Amino acid sequence: MPAPKRLLILGGTGEARQLAAAVRARFGDALLVTTSLAGRTQTTAPIAGTVRRGGFGGAAGLANFLRAERIDCLIDATHPFAARISATASEACRDTGVPLLALTRPSWERGEDDRWIVVASAAEAAALLPRAGQRVFLTIGQRDLDAFATIEGVYFLVRLIEPPATPLPLACDVILGRGPFTFADERSIIARHAIDLLVTKESGGAATAAKLAAARAAGIAVVMLRRPDRASGTCVESVEEALQWLGQRLAMGAASPR
Ligand code: NAP
Repeated sequence: MPAPKRLLILGGTGEARQLAAAVRARFGDALLVTTSLAGRTQTTAPIAGTVRRGGFGGAAGLANFLRAERIDCLIDATHPFAARISATASEACRDTGVPLLALTRPSWERGEDDRWIVVASAAEAAALLPRAGQRVFLTIGQRDLDAFATIEGVYFLVRLIEPPATPLPLACDVILGRGPFTFADERSIIARHAIDLLVTKESGGAATAAKLAAARAAGIAVVMLRRPDRASGTCVESVEEALQWLGQRLAMGAASPR
């Protein structure tokens, strides 16, 4: 029997978790899967295969890891806003010759009744306040909250995945939640807190899209942070396409059922 091939998935997303499970199901023991997490959150849903946590120390560190672990393929399935690790992956793969695929969820599409204000950064979003809204639902994670710290006369509701490890830089109410979210939940949050503006990243995908429908139904505007530019290269939008790419790159068929 040929030695198993090795796949590294850069994760931290639902898509990465789905991919790890799908790779196990499709290729079985012929492909060993390791998922890498930055380690930002304390709790994660179970992930098929091996899981490692923490940064690599930049492109040179990741290149060393690829060589040491004899990785045959790398799939970057990180969040569309995780631009640094994607650039790192691109550089490390160029230096080592390891084939790289990006699995990136599709962007959201603006509907006819959507009132979106598209901005390039959290600072640009903050500059719209308080004119654009006085009761603001912030769903942009913790890292970019600094931009809103000095704004006065605005109520902020911040949604985070876990309780913040350090104090937040702004006065706000915090709610905890991990997607997927339902339309009913999002509609009720908007009503309960009398929200008049939603600020979100253009993350895309289905798991967190309900807030957009809820904002539309409530007739409120959405400030949408545009995706950062990411390293170019081969990119797919679905787990199935990623499996096909793997099969071709590694010249592997599906594992026989056990
Ligand atoms: P980032 O700004 O692109 O990366 C910052 C640093 O964190 C990287 O330089 C790298 O450290 C380390 N890192 C990031 N992702 C890693 C991974 N999967 N495995 C190992 N190290 C990783 O990333 P971020 O925006 O902080 O996101 C961190 C993680 O959270 C990612 O896995 C991403 O998929 C997930 N996430 C991010 C967002 C978001 O909005 N940004 C939302 C949901 C989930 P070294 O330079 O030391 O290698």
